[in-house]
Amino acid sequence: MTIAANLGYPRIGPRRELKTALDSFWAGKGTEADLLATASALRAGSRALQQGSGINHCPSGDFALYDHVLDTACAFGAVPGGYGWAGEGPVSLATQFALARGARGSEAEAAAGIPPGAVALEMTKWFDTNYHYLVPRLSHATCFRLLHNPWADAVREGFASGTRTRPVLLGPVSFLLLSKTEEGTPPLALLPGLLPAYAEALRGIAEAGATWVQIDEPCLVTDLPPGAAEAYRLAYAALAAAAPGLKLLLATYFGGLGDMLGTVASLPVAGLHIDLVRAPAQLEPTLAAWPADRWLSLGVVDGRNIWRTDLRAALALAQRAAGRRLMIAPSCSLLHVPQSLKLETGLDPALARRLAFAHEKLAEIVLLARGIDEGEAAIAPALKESDAVIAAARAAAHDPAVARRLASVTPEMAQRRSPFATRVLAQQARQSLPKLPVTTIGSFPQTAEVRALRGRLARGTITAAEHDAGMERLTAEAIAWQEETGVDVPVHGEFERNDMVKYFGEQLAGYAFTKHGWVQSYGSRCVAPPIIWGDVSRPAPMTLRWASYAQSLTSRPVKGMLTGPVTMLAWSFVREDIPRETVCRQIALAIRDEVADLEAAGIAIVQIDEPAFREGLPLRQADRAAYLTWAVDCFRLAAAVVRDDTQIHTHMCYAEFNDIIGDIAAMDADVISIETTRSDMELLGAFEGFAYPNDIGPGVWDIHSPRVPGVEEMVGLLRRAAARVPAERLWVNPDCGCKTRGWAEVRPAMANMVAAARILRAEL
Ligand code: GLN
Ligand code: ZN
Repeated sequence: MTIAANLGYPRIGPRRELKTALDSFWAGKGTEADLLATASALRAGSRALQQGSGINHCPSGDFALYDHVLDTACAFGAVPGGYGWAGEGPVSLATQFALARGARGSEAEAAAGIPPGAVALEMTKWFDTNYHYLVPRLSHATCFRLLHNPWADAVREGFASGTRTRPVLLGPVSFLLLSKTEEGTPPLALLPGLLPAYAEALRGIAEAGATWVQIDEPCLVTDLPPGAAEAYRLAYAALAAAAPGLKLLLATYFGGLGDMLGTVASLPVAGLHIDLVRAPAQLEPTLAAWPADRWLSLGVVDGRNIWRTDLRAALALAQRAAGRRLMIAPSCSLLHVPQSLKLETGLDPALARRLAFAHEKLAEIVLLARGIDEGEAAIAPALKESDAVIAAARAAAHDPAVARRLASVTPEMAQRRSPFATRVLAQQARQSLPKLPVTTIGSFPQTAEVRALRGRLARGTITAAEHDAGMERLTAEAIAWQEETGVDVPVHGEFERNDMVKYFGEQLAGYAFTKHGWVQSYGSRCVAPPIIWGDVSRPAPMTLRWASYAQSLTSRPVKGMLTGPVTMLAWSFVREDIPRETVCRQIALAIRDEVADLEAAGIAIVQIDEPAFREGLPLRQADRAAYLTWAVDCFRLAAAVVRDDTQIHTHMCYAEFNDIIGDIAAMDADVISIETTRSDMELLGAFEGFAYPNDIGPGVWDIHSPRVPGVEEMVGLLRRAAARVPAERLWVNPDCGCKTRGWAEVRPAMANMVAAARILRAEL
């Protein structure tokens, strides 16, 4: 019998119950018992739902209060000093949250012995998803041992409600590869010390009564460091020996195994899960390499996107493995999709029919498993409906005008008229700015007043005219303040924008938005990505009104503010019937129209933000060049419509630039602003080494911190910047937008920045 399996379920709850409970606990309103009760109720709900859907292998231990990588580190005693853990016994909740968020100065922290200065562990992206995990900080002194067994507990919790679950562990090799050591040495060297702790965890899981355990090794689909194959052999020999009665399912996802397939096929595990959504071509080689007496779990339902599965195609793919011992599963954990469509009452029904969130995907998995065992006829009505939905979707998504426009794009359209050296002279003549011009990244504080204004418009308690009048007043105040403070290139402040992607998506054709489509980004933080379902076009100008209004108030050049095509794509759920590259080009043309309108209205500077540019990089090195080529080209298509004397800026948040600096240069923005404060200008090294020719605004104020930097501090940073890139190429700005800060910080910080720029100018 084919097994219907799931790899992991969203944790946050259909109405973000976990977020509410965490926020209330952190605010000191809810108790630890309240928080744990909410968590346990959420787990019970997910178990019941998965069982009720007919899932045979229901995951457990996939839940985490904050992050599963942090939980893994805490279970194995990988807790650095300075967080109040004495080296014995389970890690307290206070310590876990201090590791996750840094010390907050609470009484609970003091009671747990956590010093007030404890900073959070580094957080980084979980592979190419928008989930962020905490990077375990290990050292040669880390003494791994099982402090408590959350997976065995999860199995027992399942039994208590009548379900035999399949616990999920992050595998030891991926755990180490995702960690960092204090010594800077390769963490994989710590494997021999870690394996006994994993072995003990598996024995506990077996004792708790589990028959299968899922061990996730997503690093198997990435380019691995030397020694990784040997590490996998060592690890799985040890784990298989630890609990001989327990069946190990080695789970891989987010890509194909590539040349690790041979190694993986030789590991002593009972089953292997492969991602056939991202890498369908790996099915044939896997069938050839994987022993027929062992289980194969086919990830044919997309765990990364929100579209209904093409059941006929998925079934046909899975049937190529017919005769094997099979599981049908999502491609990866369902953590990365929203929970349930049931709450989305506001969506266009034609679109809603095309979607499947986590809950709906469970039913697809069960159907496909049945289709394999009982034949197509057994699920004929579902297949027919799936065919109809897909045909209707293709027809609805297509706008002939967009196709015509795309077909008429020429290479010249992505090419500025003159090289930077010529443009910069024309721009300087038009702008008459001082050296080291001071500007900001775009947004100003989203105060309670700003949010209330937008909220009232959304609820219909004020008219659009009343809303606009309020926004104009805020914008006018911001312009007046920037003039007084001495900001050379003011911005309108982005008060009217809820979010830098949503604001544009809501005005573009082809986009839709959910009400409850929350996906965990980190901890209690969730995002509800827009859905790009159809051809994208711009029915009307989107930002022109605000930029023109701001410009009408000042003689200084106001910087128009747009979100770039690569970021609009990266932070959305994207249709899959056409290549991502094509969707990105459609967005680029829409942004291009906006850029042209801004220029025609007299705006001399336009910033096109691309904070997600680096994020879009594929996991494997071999796939990166293709992405970078089209991503750069889409940015240029959006930007290159302007005259020489109109200046194009772009902005990227914290990112490593070394390996993509050539591509950053190829974007050919006249000015790029980046986040450099925390790295003490180290990040400029990439630009220095490349002899990056265009202008750069290295951030001199870390807007992630409430601390207001002093003049001297910023002068110091600017001097370090000027040592790396020519001073006449430098701009002066914060690291990112100021929307999360208050005016009490923004006013003095910007005044200090202006003072710092003036000091440096005097030295030039
Ligand atoms: N212009 C945007 C802002 O200032 C940029 C935000 C970002 O880089 N994430 O808010
Ligand atoms: Zn930014």
